[in-house]
Amino acid sequence: MNTAPDMIVAAHKASSGHRSQLLSDGVVCGCFHCCEIFAPSTITEWIDEDDSGLGQTAMCPRCGIDSVIGSGSGYPITTDFLTHMRDHWFGVD
Ligand SMILES: [Zn+2]
Repeated sequence: MNTAPDMIVAAHKASSGHRSQLLSDGVVCGCFHCCEIFAPSTITEWIDEDDSGLGQTAMCPRCGIDSVIGSGSGYPITTDFLTHMRDHWFGVD
């Protein structure tokens, strides 16, 4: 499967400020740093606190990097897609 580069770039925007989106019913999360797929209930650390002190960006419960995207973003939360994301954002070239 070819994944459009535009989609890989655009999906990065879905990896921050997404607390309410991730905590919606039925959402599955994936991390494009370690390529794990997990339930949002397993996220324990949030950064980017808003005025009430509530973190808005999830940290991956597996690797601790803020590279989490949720299925509510409309992007496919699959190992294949996450691997493409990793190659683009963390790859050597
Ligand atoms: Zn991770």
